[in-house]
Amino acid sequence: MQDINVHGKSFTMTDELIQMMDEMIRRGKIELGFPLCSDNGNVISGTHCIGDACSIKIDAECPHGSERIGSFHTHPMSTSEPSIADIALAMNHYLQEKSLGVDCRGGEMDNTIRCDIVNASDVRKNIKTLLQAYEEMHLKGYTNTPASEFPALQSLFDVIEIPRAAEKPKYGEMRAMSRDEIDFGINKDEMQQAARKLGLSVSSSIPKMKILSMIEKAGYSFVVQPIMSGDRVMYAAKLEKTRNL
Ligand SMILES: [Zn+2]
Repeated sequence: MQDINVHGKSFTMTDELIQMMDEMIRRGKIELGFPLCSDNGNVISGTHCIGDACSIKIDAECPHGSERIGSFHTHPMSTSEPSIADIALAMNHYLQEKSLGVDCRGGEMDNTIRCDIVNASDVRKNIKTLLQAYEEMHLKGYTNTPASEFPALQSLFDVIEIPRAAEKPKYGEMRAMSRDEIDFGINKDEMQQAARKLGLSVSSSIPKMKILSMIEKAGYSFVVQPIMSGDRVMYAAKLEKTRNL
């Protein structure tokens, strides 16, 4: 769940919505998306739209009674960074009062959901910037230029990243931990203890990730297992012999 602030109003992106975005990112190949609509402050999806490999048009309506705040679409084989077209369109919609000017993209390559929100304070004074962006797009003949190459337009937006629900293993299930999870979840002391249990000699000056490499070379890897502690589920990391697949 994530709250986003749009022109002083707070909207909630529910876990179900973020999960829907996740699933679309994983489908890849063509751009998929939907309008983002507010139903009493909860962000819900409008009708789903299908684009092609590099563009999508989200004309669909929001469900009756809800307010359009913007749109979401995927970037297959690309990152969550917006194209000039993405944010120019968001600003255009905002100026025409068709939406609140929120544009979210899910990048397959960076596996990130990023939203750009029109910063309303003096956006109307910057119509020239929008027109210049359109001219630039027209001159380049394509609209997939990253918005970062047009800083004047990008500076009119606030950027937020939507945190994703971490994929948690089911109770009792063992799962190999990714290196990122190890980096966050296991501190250096624990890493040293684990290495020493395997008989590896590790001095305190060896960095954590180096110790991990030694452990992996010794044929072991970390797995995580959910355990019950009172009525709470906790996660325990332990070493297991790496299986050769
Ligand atoms: Zn896009």
